[in-house]
Amino acid sequence: MNPLHNAVWLYLGSEARNADEIAALTGWCERNRVGKVIVYLHMDSRQDEAIAERVSLLAEACASRNIELHGMVSTLIQRVDNRDSLLLQDKSCYCVDAHGISTFEEPIVGKSYVLDPRHPDVIRTVSDKCAELLRRFPGLNGIHLDFVRYYHYDSRLEIDTKSAGHWIGLPKAGQPIRLETADGVRTTFFIEQASNLYNDPPIGDKLVLSRSYRYCFCEDCLSGFERHSGLVIPESLSETAGKAQWLLEQHPAEWAEYRASIVTGLVGSIRAAVREERPDARLSAAIWYNAPYGNELRDEPFLPDSEYECFGQKWWEWVERGYLDFVCPMDYWMKPGSFGGIVDGQLRKTDGRVPVYAGLLKTPEYEIDRSGYEEYARMAEAGGAAGICFFHYGSWKQLL
Ligand SMILES: [Zn+2]
Repeated sequence: MNPLHNAVWLYLGSEARNADEIAALTGWCERNRVGKVIVYLHMDSRQDEAIAERVSLLAEACASRNIELHGMVSTLIQRVDNRDSLLLQDKSCYCVDAHGISTFEEPIVGKSYVLDPRHPDVIRTVSDKCAELLRRFPGLNGIHLDFVRYYHYDSRLEIDTKSAGHWIGLPKAGQPIRLETADGVRTTFFIEQASNLYNDPPIGDKLVLSRSYRYCFCEDCLSGFERHSGLVIPESLSETAGKAQWLLEQHPAEWAEYRASIVTGLVGSIRAAVREERPDARLSAAIWYNAPYGNELRDEPFLPDSEYECFGQKWWEWVERGYLDFVCPMDYWMKPGSFGGIVDGQLRKTDGRVPVYAGLLKTPEYEIDRSGYEEYARMAEAGGAAGICFFHYGSWKQLL
């Protein structure tokens, strides 16, 4: 086994702020056999000079200890307070959900804008930005893709309305209802079920609100699907919601295959741009083990290949095609036994083509102690992983 067989994700917010903290980080890496530091960088390299200087210092310190430094980007999601600071200003570059709502108009929790991986401007811009980071930071050994997927979540609220009184006009199933928080963040839900026991006196029962955050149902993606699959969406369906329902119910396999092919195409384009910029630079990605992730915390089963069906991550194909040099699955919130099983499956999918660094999360919400860590590390090794990828340095440095 490589003496530096582990990896770590690093966020610069409160870490590696000066030479002393950088020395502490590289010392920690050596003690914990970490050979790859994966540092989060803004994809837009107009980031401030102070960060640029820290990254240079970090690169120098890592190189002197034989530790690789990789720049991580948030590939397809941008979190901004103000729409003016988005990388791309054209609404058509952003994903549209199964109700026809664009994340450009209604960003997730008010600030997350999801790029449409099919849009030619998105493919070009994201690929160029990755190459640009390698130019701006010559000390980087490669680029690491985070959030290289579709956003996907079926959101559901169940509200007990027994004592709601005359709180709102009687809602009807199918109608939209908009929730707005004090900070101005607005989110549209749809009424799935509304039942009352009595209208007079006002005694309610239950209100169920739902929102299907599934992407991308923009007109261009829909016509692209028709060309890709040879299927024709019935002309009688004029609304996005109806088309989405037809696709998800009648042709889920073709739809999943189409979306995955789009994300795979994006990864291929990034690979080409990275290679053209610097032939020896590496490309890697953080990928999910299940959709939704964290399922074990809710006592829900693992759904094999759900990361492919829901997130569009057919990541083993990225490996097969030689786009990735290593992969870091985010194997979080699992008991050691499940973690071992998931790692095992991931190794089978990569078929030994590239190293797998099994991502292990420790946070105040999900604590792991030293003996726990050792158990996870044994599981990763038994499954054939190259090592652990620690999420993240700021949290793990308190234990190891
Ligand atoms: Zn689209």
